[in-house]
Amino acid sequence: MDKAEILKLNNIKKRNTIATLKLLRRLDKVSRVELVKLLNCDRATITRIIASLLQKGIIKQAGNISSEGGRPRENIQLDGNFRYSIGIQLDANFITGVVVDLNGKILKHKTLQLEDHNNRKEFLKILDEITVHCLDFCNREKLLGIGIAAFGTFANENKTLENVADFHALENFNISDFFSQKYGIIPEISDTATAHANYITGLGICRNAGLSLLFCLGRGIGCVPLVDGKITFCKYSHGGEFGHTIINIDGVLCNCGRHGCLEAVASSLSMAKQLQLNDIAEHQRFSEVVKLYTKNNHAARKVVESAARTLGIAIANQVNSLMPDEVLLTGELLKLGNPFFEIIKKTVDEYAFPAFSRNLVLSNCGVGENHVIIGVATLPIDRMFQNFE
Ligand SMILES: [Zn+2]
Repeated sequence: MDKAEILKLNNIKKRNTIATLKLLRRLDKVSRVELVKLLNCDRATITRIIASLLQKGIIKQAGNISSEGGRPRENIQLDGNFRYSIGIQLDANFITGVVVDLNGKILKHKTLQLEDHNNRKEFLKILDEITVHCLDFCNREKLLGIGIAAFGTFANENKTLENVADFHALENFNISDFFSQKYGIIPEISDTATAHANYITGLGICRNAGLSLLFCLGRGIGCVPLVDGKITFCKYSHGGEFGHTIINIDGVLCNCGRHGCLEAVASSLSMAKQLQLNDIAEHQRFSEVVKLYTKNNHAARKVVESAARTLGIAIANQVNSLMPDEVLLTGELLKLGNPFFEIIKKTVDEYAFPAFSRNLVLSNCGVGENHVIIGVATLPIDRMFQNFE
């Protein structure tokens, strides 16, 4: 047997502890008996892990529940106040900052809109304002770190921004340097779709076996593969640029400078553009698309239905390439409701090979308000769980 294949006793203990902490984050309160069942392990292991976690203060007693004919069972739960984490979501329209507790519960939330999509100075001023607001709220001794959800691609391991299609003024922005020089904190950086996926996997919403494809549909369009409930990262831990795959070589110009990208016809902003809603503030344009579509406006129906079909074909292409067990849809576009989702589903059925679509589960995970920001804020918490001794 290869040396690397041997699991040391300490590694097993560590993995059991991580699994327990992750499960506790998903649940509110739970008894030891329930933990034994859910983790499919023996009672002695759970008793040992719980005693150690209680002693370190990361979990706490949470009252008793009476059990039929026996002793009342003692519940335990994560102590949310054990540590905090900050999440910051960067977008071409806004910057949001949150402080979350260990359960991922939002304790502080601030969003500021950006007026100008070409003003790096304004962007950095607002980013500083949001960051200081979150840092001021936290007891620094309890702060685990800062997670940042960014847009654009990453040029290198340092995650310097590149190809920022919706905000060209941010080209070559080094987020890590900005945070380490200004606040003395090296942040954990993820792209927006991967942050969304971190939320989904953290809560165990996807299958824990096989391949799931998570599609995030909004101003940006992303696809993250999840293998056995875990995120599959591409180079530089980026989720890739599914939204800029070309679906019509002679199509309209995309913000990335090429023609016919999926985002150029099927994103929230491109639908508003096709409906010529240019007089409305950019961050309110998609609400107007939803309003018009819901009212059965003819032009809105045409644009939205065409976008849904294009998305369906793009998703079917991924299904035919990767043969997933499950497809999950989430994001702002799902505000368009069930008729929009059904067109996508029907189109996937139409274009995916029957052998691949026959047993495919295609689910609507909803709009996912706050999922990106919570998903990215939990990156420092995940790291702490991984290294918790
Ligand atoms: Zn593009």
